[in-house]
Amino acid sequence: MSGKFGEWLFGKWGPLEKAAGEWIKDVVWPEGAFCCACGRVTKGGGLCDACRESLLHDGAFFAWERDDPEPGLTAWSLRPHDGVPRELIHRLKYQAEARAAGLLSELLTPLPPDISFPQETVVTWVTMPESRRRERCIDHGRLLAETFAKKLGLDCRQLLDRRDRHEKSQATLGAAQRTANLTGAFAPKEKISFPVLIVDDVRTTGTTLCRCAEALRAGGAEELYALTVTAPHRGLSG
Ligand SMILES: [Zn+2]
Repeated sequence: MSGKFGEWLFGKWGPLEKAAGEWIKDVVWPEGAFCCACGRVTKGGGLCDACRESLLHDGAFFAWERDDPEPGLTAWSLRPHDGVPRELIHRLKYQAEARAAGLLSELLTPLPPDISFPQETVVTWVTMPESRRRERCIDHGRLLAETFAKKLGLDCRQLLDRRDRHEKSQATLGAAQRTANLTGAFAPKEKISFPVLIVDDVRTTGTTLCRCAEALRAGGAEELYALTVTAPHRGLSG
């Protein structure tokens, strides 16, 4: 706290006033930021040391796993769906904390040596129903795709239209219902003659990715990749 402000607030400095001033300053203008995952005060940056540490996997910020949901769709996930990544997704999706997208994009680097995308790859996202986008006040899929594309040095744009109707949230449904719920939900927005990378937050059964891939193929896409931040631990997915 500057001396002038302290003098204005408390007059002549005494130890008690000084302590009170520091306390007020910490509450109103904390020195660091708050950790996006656990809410503790950090020394700066979006994550506290403990949360950042928990993201390390064999010394790097990733635990990449490849698990293709269908032939012709190469799908990667960065982390199992738990801990800090799950919390960051929750903050982004349900609490509209946009900075979580940037923190999650840190998990992308360094890319493992066996994963690379052609330079002409266009990144896109799972288009959200308009009603849900308005309800949540954030388009988390788009934000993730744009942040990730920037990190990967690739172009990013909306390639899928979504029929706006009363869909149930996929999270509440079983595998068979998920397929029925999304049948015909997506349509290509343009003719696609380039590789496409679909970026999404969570992959559960892979149904959403397959429905998006189907629509992109209908638009002409031949080379398809998917990248989700998290996926269930192997053996737990439905
Ligand atoms: Zn934390």
